[in-house]
Amino acid sequence: MKKIIVLTILTAFFLAGCSTQNMNSKKIKVAATIFPLYDAISEIGKDKVDAVLIVPPTSDPHNFSLSPKDIEKLQGVKIIFENDIGLENWMSTLIKTLKDARVINTSEGITGKVENNNPHIWLNPDYFTAQCSAIEKALVDADSVNASYYEANFKIYTDSIMTEAMKLRSEIDKLQVKKIISFHDAFPYLAEYFGLEVLGTLEETPGALPTPQKIKTIEDLIVKNRIKAIFKEPQQSTEIMNAIIEDTHAKVYMLDPIGGTEGRNGYLETMKYNVNTIIEALK
Ligand SMILES: [Zn+2]
Repeated sequence: MKKIIVLTILTAFFLAGCSTQNMNSKKIKVAATIFPLYDAISEIGKDKVDAVLIVPPTSDPHNFSLSPKDIEKLQGVKIIFENDIGLENWMSTLIKTLKDARVINTSEGITGKVENNNPHIWLNPDYFTAQCSAIEKALVDADSVNASYYEANFKIYTDSIMTEAMKLRSEIDKLQVKKIISFHDAFPYLAEYFGLEVLGTLEETPGALPTPQKIKTIEDLIVKNRIKAIFKEPQQSTEIMNAIIEDTHAKVYMLDPIGGTEGRNGYLETMKYNVNTIIEALK
């Protein structure tokens, strides 16, 4: 009798375990290469997706390499959302390993506006919402039963971003000086949307140190244009930036092209942080 009770309890546990697993497996496992796309898949997919972020927010996505642990956590992924435009050259290894995963290039269709192969298009909210649309379409494709769920979430998410973006743009409009200089060439699309002008950038190749001539050119630009502020990024080395500050007395501010850290927990918060930092620096 005791044995039977034990068996019954064990069976109940086993069944309970199974049903939990079944419920989890109903979620589609999807991954995004960078944080802005991860935020979009999380907000559009909400509890219907199991979202994985590939490049941690503090790492440089241009020069990333996948560890065996990264590949491990991507097992079972159905869709990988990438930015492309040369950002994720390290992806080829991953695609070979995860043969069942569909890769969605979220920048496809907006490449006509891409200049000099600069990949940072998500920093223009118009382009980012186009990337969100590619995400929504792929989720609907993969899980058409929940189509209206994804469509509704997409609308709420992108509407809140565009409402805030327009508000911030009208704030930028009021500024007298709209010229910026950055360390890493991450902001041409942000500048395009918000009506700013990128005067120059220090880094010619992501991750490579600028030449002494380049530093001299930028210092001259700062002096000639009476630039009071320059911008660095948390994902890049900034020793050179510090030397320039000493030479020119320009003040340094931090812009974050990626987000995903304290105070910049979503795309919306990161956009607000960046534009408000620029306003603070330029006014
Ligand atoms: Zn970058």
